[in-house]
Amino acid sequence: MSPTFVSIAYLVAAVLFILGIKNLTKPRTAVKGNQLSSIAMLIAVVVTLLDQQILGYSWIIVGMLIGGFIGAYLARTVQMTSMPEMVAALNGFGGGASLFVALANVFDPSMADNSVAQLSIGITVLIGSVTLSGSFVAFGKLKELLSGNPIKVPGNTILNGALVVAGLLLILANTMSPGGGWIFLLVVVAIALGLVLVLPIGGADMPVVIALLNSYSGIAAATAGFISGNTVLIISGSLVGASGLILTQIMCKAMNRSLPNVLFGVMAEGGEKIDADEVYAGKVKSSSPEEVAMMLETAERVVIVPGYGLAMAQAQHAVRELANVMEARGTDVKYAIHPVAGRMPGHMNVLLAEAEVPYEQLIEMDEINPQFEQTDVAIVIGANDVTNPMAREDKGSPIYGMPILNVDKARNVIIVKRSLSPGFAGLPNPLFAKDNALMLFGDGKKAIVELTASLKEAD
Ligand code: NDP
Repeated sequence: MSPTFVSIAYLVAAVLFILGIKNLTKPRTAVKGNQLSSIAMLIAVVVTLLDQQILGYSWIIVGMLIGGFIGAYLARTVQMTSMPEMVAALNGFGGGASLFVALANVFDPSMADNSVAQLSIGITVLIGSVTLSGSFVAFGKLKELLSGNPIKVPGNTILNGALVVAGLLLILANTMSPGGGWIFLLVVVAIALGLVLVLPIGGADMPVVIALLNSYSGIAAATAGFISGNTVLIISGSLVGASGLILTQIMCKAMNRSLPNVLFGVMAEGGEKIDADEVYAGKVKSSSPEEVAMMLETAERVVIVPGYGLAMAQAQHAVRELANVMEARGTDVKYAIHPVAGRMPGHMNVLLAEAEVPYEQLIEMDEINPQFEQTDVAIVIGANDVTNPMAREDKGSPIYGMPILNVDKARNVIIVKRSLSPGFAGLPNPLFAKDNALMLFGDGKKAIVELTASLKEAD
């Protein structure tokens, strides 16, 4: 294959990767983004296999058929709620693939005298192994094969530091005297590092860890590209590495936590203990679907605020049905989307998209917050922390400073949840005790179905 043709094919693939990522930034264009990126990957893989004479056309077609079948099967069968663990497993495979590429090059005579290649091998082995073992711990926690509670490793910080130093020394040793068995010792050290990094992190923080591991898998792919000088691998790996880091940063900011706090701390650490009875006693009012339906009959503007409980109750279709009934009555309906509502980035967007809620009705936090004052009814469904006014008002609170949806500014707030139990942060929510708030206790789906039925009866 001519080198010019290979370079052009790699350039086309790189441009498609960039356009793919650009399209993935908006729900409306996300499917197109996915398609462009997968076409780019197909071009890159096929051209590399043919160029290096690794496989002929017939084996490539067999591989495409097997891979295509597995992909189609998983896309159809994996539940939306299982997405985080699937992403964790895919990150692990990505890290593992880079690890094996590096190992395959360790004894290659064309690489052995080249210190850039040897250094790249060492770095790829370190990051690839950490990603592999860390991702499978994350997978085990999300799949509940391992306890979701933080698993404390004695002397964790010292152990982490010692393993990082040992890893760096082994990379140096391998670069100076390649093929000396250093690399296999490095695999053991890096696998252990991945385990001790992720085991102590609680299950609920796993989405942040997954975004970070996703970034690591990209960095490992990019450094693997330096081993053989494969430009398309360097570009695609860098894109994944950078976008994973940006996502990690967005999630930490939306939770008002630093990355070290997620990796080495615990949620709500350091805050003063807040007594739920003091917050709620005698102030919480509960309501019924009939009463809320009466309120909705006269409402002109309604904002629906979904959270983790919506996913748990699988209430997305019921919510869409309620919105349809309200819209048929002439009510303006919008959805307020908090960046960390739920347990994974984009959780609410994905759920509501499944129920075919129009994208233009999903309004991001910064845009919807000024609109709450003109909202007649805000219906909060299974959201808790992301609506907690303590984050705005209570300097002593562990979530102080976390940006929230200002639902308490709406004329009336209806909160649908099963009890007064706290959310992920483990804190009481003064919203429930506000004068303009009414609790509609019950399972999210059941409560919304009953509310819709009551509203229909009023017609
Ligand atoms: P929360 O965890 O604060 O609250 C969810 C609420 O849903 C609970 O209070 C629970 O109350 C209710 N609930 C559970 N099951 C049901 C059901 N079947 N029907 C009705 N309600 C139900 O969720 P939020 O979405 O408000 O906030 C997300 C939290 O997760 C934030 O603290 C965020 O920082 C954190 N987080 C988010 C990540 C992300 O990427 N999105 C990543 C890591 C952490 P009850 O038991 O009374 O029903």
